[in-house]
Amino acid sequence: MNKTIAVICATAVVSGSLMISAPSLSAKSTISDKVLNSLPSYNGQDLELQVSNNSTYFTLWSPLAQAVKVNIYDTNNAPTPSQVVELTQSANGTWRGSVPGQLYGKFYTFQIKHGSEWLSETPGVWAKAVGVNGKRAAIIDFSKTNPRGWESDKGPELKNITDAVIYEMHHRDFSVHPTSGIVNKGKFLALTEDNALSTLGDATGIDHLKELGVTHVHILPSYDYNSVDEANLTQNQYNWGYDPINYNAPEGSYSTNPMDPSVRIKEMKQMVKALHDAGIGVIMDVVYNHTGANDDSNFSLTAPDYYYRHRPDGSYSDASGCGNETASERQQMQNFIVNSVKYWAKEYHIDGFRFDLMAIHDTETMNRVARELKEINPSIFVYGEGWTAGDSPLPLERRALKENVSAMPEIAVFSDDIRDAVKGHYSNAADRGFATGKPGNEETIKIGIVASTAHPQVDYSKGNNSKFAYAAAPTQIINYVSCHDDLTLTDKLAKSMPGSTEEQRQRAAKLAQTIVFTSQGTPFMFAGEEIFRDKKGVHNSYKSPDSINAIDWTLKHKNADLFNYYKELIKLRKNHPAFRMTTAQDIAKNIKFDNVSEPNLISYSILNNANGDEWKEIKVILNGSEESRMVKLPKGDWTIIASDGNINAAGLGSSKGGKTEIAPTSAYIVVRK
Ligand code: CA
Repeated sequence: MNKTIAVICATAVVSGSLMISAPSLSAKSTISDKVLNSLPSYNGQDLELQVSNNSTYFTLWSPLAQAVKVNIYDTNNAPTPSQVVELTQSANGTWRGSVPGQLYGKFYTFQIKHGSEWLSETPGVWAKAVGVNGKRAAIIDFSKTNPRGWESDKGPELKNITDAVIYEMHHRDFSVHPTSGIVNKGKFLALTEDNALSTLGDATGIDHLKELGVTHVHILPSYDYNSVDEANLTQNQYNWGYDPINYNAPEGSYSTNPMDPSVRIKEMKQMVKALHDAGIGVIMDVVYNHTGANDDSNFSLTAPDYYYRHRPDGSYSDASGCGNETASERQQMQNFIVNSVKYWAKEYHIDGFRFDLMAIHDTETMNRVARELKEINPSIFVYGEGWTAGDSPLPLERRALKENVSAMPEIAVFSDDIRDAVKGHYSNAADRGFATGKPGNEETIKIGIVASTAHPQVDYSKGNNSKFAYAAAPTQIINYVSCHDDLTLTDKLAKSMPGSTEEQRQRAAKLAQTIVFTSQGTPFMFAGEEIFRDKKGVHNSYKSPDSINAIDWTLKHKNADLFNYYKELIKLRKNHPAFRMTTAQDIAKNIKFDNVSEPNLISYSILNNANGDEWKEIKVILNGSEESRMVKLPKGDWTIIASDGNINAAGLGSSKGGKTEIAPTSAYIVVRK
């Protein structure tokens, strides 16, 4: 979510609520921070539901509850429970109870007594399987949800995050268009379909990803969210999903049958397995910073007030711009976030996590997240948005802000520096950037090239966004020009380059992505940009229909040259460790900027067979102006990799150096051994 967009989480009312009418919580916290902060916490892995050979156990963390009960239902729609179990207060803020037998196939809700009244039913905060629309938790046998070969399933091994090439996608965008040739449109299963072809015969789906060469897909929220009514999927509803309900169960609308709680779990695992079999990792977009509902959220109904921050008057504080913000500095919220991502890593073999509005969380929590995930699988990596959407009671120095990333060694943040400098301001559509001819962004591009690390030739005082080298290492930076937020690159170029031809705009797109993919740090791209997908100029498409959001796969045919450019760019990066240095010291030592003083021109070399590269020197010259530029290339035996909107990782030709013309709006890359 973008820091200026506070409306994408606007909640839709889900129809068909089965909740029994109960008194609402007070809209304002009546429990003091002092009391909330001193409550006991519980880090056990057995919260809410455990099924053994002969019993089913319920455990709810709710330290201030006056009583807790579990309603057990025979079906998701049964109007009344078949059994009600009173839980007994136990250690560390928990309440416990059990019933004989394995209750597979049944559903349950918790209810707590608070302020002498029974609150509404809730599936709890740890429901791992849920009925349609996530109103009731389901009891299923997880051992029956694994696809064949799951025991040996593994994501790609990754030594450093900088070796990743991240592709951000929404399930519907990627497969729902009539031209996709995919059967399971808009579903997890879309990514399991081999040999899918567009109506014009180009590879789509997972084959397209393999052809492109990305290492990881980053899937937009895929936990159970609120805004799509799973009971009415024929209506083709669309939402990004930044309104979480059940953090530990998959979203039902991406399954082929949300009525059966096992299906979404099985199908999400099938998706992960298919991607892993293709050598591609899976990153989940996680949104622990706020919930879709306030007083009626599962957090509020299990432990009122505890999981949220409040203003001095007791009202919800709102750093998310969505009506509330969670309180990761409280021990049980921290435990929740850490154990939730660990659960996804273990049960679903997830390879990475992208934290929405990460700066709402505290640095200590994020460090614990990274540390405990790395213990499960050292290849897992974590990155997030190092900003908030509004102010927070959490002190600035504790926030997981971009500016504080040096205090989070294993966490990466999105570089809004490079994003805005390359293409122009994200919210001012007409604004241009370095790649589209606007002068004054050169130093910020250089900040991007060195991944916001300290470099003797980069003057941070001239940076547009950040004024100091905030990253301690390039492994802390995610480079991008666009993502699901704001205009797609295609639309941004159209709006900021009025009167231009599509050919000119694609030249700018190539230059923009060349900057991203050759810069130090980790490259990130938005699905479909490689074939010049647009969103019809819609800035904030969080609930726009498929007609805006779906990728038209016939574009792959039309824009084959652009697609090939991306493919070669990715190949270049993957074949050459010089673009993937891991320390600030290496960057400072190996990157040397040339003295060019013309606007929209940057020239630099990556020297010394950097990071073990076979190439002794890589020279990257970026011309963002609409005129050609003359540069003096040192004499030598150069192989040309990129020139005038063309690229070939194996070489386009050769040069002996000397006076060299750099075509308008293009990157020139030459290398020597
Ligand atoms: Ca849902």
